[in-house]
Amino acid sequence: MDFSLSAEQREIQALARDFTRKEIAPAQLEMDEDHEFPYALWEKWSDLGMPGILIPEEYGGSGLDALTYVIALEEVATESNTFALIWQVHVLVAEMYRKFASAEQKVHWLPPFARGEKLGAIGLTEAGAGSDSQGMTTRAALDGNQWSIDGTKIFISNAGTRISDGLALMAVTGARDDGRKEISTFIVPRDAEGFTLGQSFAKMAWHGMDNRELVFDGCRIPAGNIMGERGAGLRQALGGLNLGRVAFGAIGAGLIRGCLEESLDYAKQRKQFGKPLSDFQLTQAKLANMATGMEAARRLTHYAAYLFAQGADCRKEAAMAKLFATQRATEAALDAFQIHGGYAFMEDYKVNRFYREAKILEIGEGTNEIQQLYIARQLGC
Ligand SMILES: Cc1cc2nc3c(=O)[nH]c(=O)nc-3n(C[C@H](O)[C@H](O)[C@H](O)COP(=O)(O)OP(=O)(O)OC[C@H]3O[C@@H](n4cnc5c(N)ncnc54)[C@H](O)[C@@H]3O)c2cc1C
Repeated sequence: MDFSLSAEQREIQALARDFTRKEIAPAQLEMDEDHEFPYALWEKWSDLGMPGILIPEEYGGSGLDALTYVIALEEVATESNTFALIWQVHVLVAEMYRKFASAEQKVHWLPPFARGEKLGAIGLTEAGAGSDSQGMTTRAALDGNQWSIDGTKIFISNAGTRISDGLALMAVTGARDDGRKEISTFIVPRDAEGFTLGQSFAKMAWHGMDNRELVFDGCRIPAGNIMGERGAGLRQALGGLNLGRVAFGAIGAGLIRGCLEESLDYAKQRKQFGKPLSDFQLTQAKLANMATGMEAARRLTHYAAYLFAQGADCRKEAAMAKLFATQRATEAALDAFQIHGGYAFMEDYKVNRFYREAKILEIGEGTNEIQQLYIARQLGC
């Protein structure tokens, strides 16, 4: 068993680490202030080829594997969960296109995704359909040579920026033989007739990320804009979400690392009772737990990413990585807050942001309860 990173993986890790320190850290402060999508930062990230990290070279991507991707993603997440999530959603959507789109759709959409000129988004969630996609009411009906779509999606990430395009939208297209809803995936261009951006949401964190309602009111798209087979929408979404869950493992590990680095520095320099906090065993226990959680989250994530890269079944491992890393991230954020005492309550302390960012990782990409149900099912329950 070889746990070492390849020369290429070390190179990408160093590139991402350097970019994170020099570019993402200052941009994160701006995003927190102005709540604007970081266009300039995304452009610089695109110059490094990162939006196309998993896109094959024939479509202008870097053609790297999922393990290399999560190694870089962890670096980004040590400073900015917001930017990590913007990138993660984009990569997930591009991967869905790579796996399920037709040859013609790939040629049209993958090159601008790889260049970062177009930003990917996926629209699954609705007001009545969160964990339970069978609650979905957005409908698509074939009308001549066009699909007509009606419904509203909520919380959708990346969909309302000026570079958002090629939304992967899930909609009900009929009923299956077993009575459940038939759900299909559609490619909706930004300028499709009848597609409008709804309200954006005021959030407790991820301020530079665009999250909003999407409204489809007699939206018309060509019949050929269905992605893959009719009725394959949930399977495709799950295929994308497997990568998303591995990615959440890396983002969780990155957040824990951010908490650990900040807390260790602080505990060494802050003195009470004549000693640095790091001399107190109760503080040491928190730091040790963070370090252990980070290592274990990273190992689970790397293993799931390795399986994904091999094309092997990684459903259980992806769910485990997501569940474990995000649970430990919430714990680490609470402990980092505690170590910083009252200063953590002040907005200019990084651990304040880590605390605000952590909990949502247990909700997004399928809640942690859904991961638990899923893992239990794989165990035969
Ligand atoms: C910032 C943000 C960004 C997002 N981005 C996107 C996006 O880009 N695209 C997209 O499609 N969606 C997106 N979402 C939606 C996200 O995926 C959902 O919020 C998530 O799937 C949970 O759905 P819900 O919020 O409706 O919670 P619910 O499904 O209502 O769940 C509420 C609680 O009930 C629990 N629960 C539900 N069912 C069960 C069960 N069977 N057993 C045990 N417990 C259960 C859940 O675990 C949770 O704790 C985003 C959400 C947020 C907040």
